[in-house]
Amino acid sequence: MRVAVKLEHINQQINEACLKVNRSPDEVKLIAVTKYVSIERASEAFEAGIKNLGENRDEGLLEKWEVLGDKPNWHFIGTLQKRKVKNIIDKVEYIHSLDRLSLAEEINKRAGHKIKCFVQVNVSQEDTKHGLSPKETIEFIESLRPFDNISVEGLMTMAPLTKNEQVLRDCFRKLRELRDQVQASNLDFAPCRELSMGMSGDFPIAIEEGATMVRIGTALVGEDG
Ligand SMILES: *Cc1c(COP(=O)(O)O)cnc(C)c1O
Repeated sequence: MRVAVKLEHINQQINEACLKVNRSPDEVKLIAVTKYVSIERASEAFEAGIKNLGENRDEGLLEKWEVLGDKPNWHFIGTLQKRKVKNIIDKVEYIHSLDRLSLAEEINKRAGHKIKCFVQVNVSQEDTKHGLSPKETIEFIESLRPFDNISVEGLMTMAPLTKNEQVLRDCFRKLRELRDQVQASNLDFAPCRELSMGMSGDFPIAIEEGATMVRIGTALVGEDG
């Protein structure tokens, strides 16, 4: 199915979720996660009007950058190794996966300007997921103060792989509450207004719980079905 057709369906679901909780769809930024798909498919997504593209590996990002360059806004959404930072740092608008001090040091050192970052939180506390525990998050963010090239724009999480709506909702709500807490601290290096949460299987619930960026791969650019 063409991306444009899938996009129409996704936009409809975004609108419905917003309507349910009285939010404006303008508050929700759609990121097409192109990590599974070809350069052609990523280009198709861009041509369909999706300006924000997400990749989780430096190779994937660089490969697509060759073709699309800085026309899209690039989001780095995957686990980031320190030695890979220099490859992507001047190509991305956002890094969604800041989860440790050594990575912050490297980003700060390599960046030529302020980089918008999300602090990744492992709300569900699954061993398989990266990110800080909710308990560690505030202290971690405070420790980012010395880094002039890092701006904490928000928090990011990946929900557990479940269809249990209540479990998903609890996870997203906890991230929102944590975001509110950081925001209330009024830190100039951490405005923390954004919530990066929601993927193909759970984005309507994430939006109902306050997501401002949803990262959608399979349901939006998936090449089958
Ligand atoms: C792959 C990935 C997504 C998108 O996953 P889908 O289920 O295909 O929508 C979103 N966020 C992160 C961090 C990912 O790695």
